[in-house]
Amino acid sequence: MFPKFSRVAFLFLGSFFFLQCQTDKPSIGLQPIKTKVSLENRQKVAPPISPESITKSSKKYVYITFDDGPNKGTSHVIQSLQREKVPATLFLVGSHIKGSKAQERNFEMIIQDTLFQIANHSYSHANNKFSEFYKDSVKVLEDFNRMNDSLNRKLMIARTPGRNIWRLDSIKETDLKSSEKAADYLAKNEFILVGWDVEWKSDSTYKVKETGKEIMAIIDSTFSNNRVQTENHLVLLTHDQYFRDENSVKELDDLLQILNKREDIELRKMKDYPGIKADIN
Ligand SMILES: [Zn+2]
Repeated sequence: MFPKFSRVAFLFLGSFFFLQCQTDKPSIGLQPIKTKVSLENRQKVAPPISPESITKSSKKYVYITFDDGPNKGTSHVIQSLQREKVPATLFLVGSHIKGSKAQERNFEMIIQDTLFQIANHSYSHANNKFSEFYKDSVKVLEDFNRMNDSLNRKLMIARTPGRNIWRLDSIKETDLKSSEKAADYLAKNEFILVGWDVEWKSDSTYKVKETGKEIMAIIDSTFSNNRVQTENHLVLLTHDQYFRDENSVKELDDLLQILNKREDIELRKMKDYPGIKADIN
């Protein structure tokens, strides 16, 4: 087909182009050296971060707490938490436990499930006369002790009724100065007082004010603005009685589902909050 010369020239030129294409490609042998150099340069700019330290620094802890149970809404709260397998701390009121057969039954359900931690929210809930209650430190202590005696338990993690008070390790916060003495007295008698960072409130008809998504956005912004007592740890307060109706329960389900999906968030009980000793209940 080709004259002899043309065939030789074709083979020669073909080989030349073939070799040229090969040398234009980056040499496989040189590649690791190039990569090594550029990695070394990068390491000079920023030291490598271990996967462990990434997890540690970005991990956030949420402690969901429900106050005033057993109460209207408690059975819905229990079911929702069990459905989503979310641990929570229930700050119970002694006088509510024997308030009715249904409340007694709810209490039994709570203590049978290790998903829940029960904590002391006083025996009388100050009969909702808070200013009067906190004037007498001895009576305040008696009321928290009465709660423990009524259950034959030693629940030393406590929340003061109607007040956001912290007495824990290095945290000492009191929302109303008039309650300060009583809080100090409880702490002196080994009670660990925990308040809250975010409250999921209700409207006037006892339905939750915010949707699950909205309260999640508040949780996120509270974390990012570091408006928490302990960095990366957030205590959420809400009340059993806000979950009496189907719509509010749906919002609780929504929040729990969102929290469960978040890989940067771990849900914990109050006994695992920093500064609380392992043997304290
Ligand atoms: Zn309360």
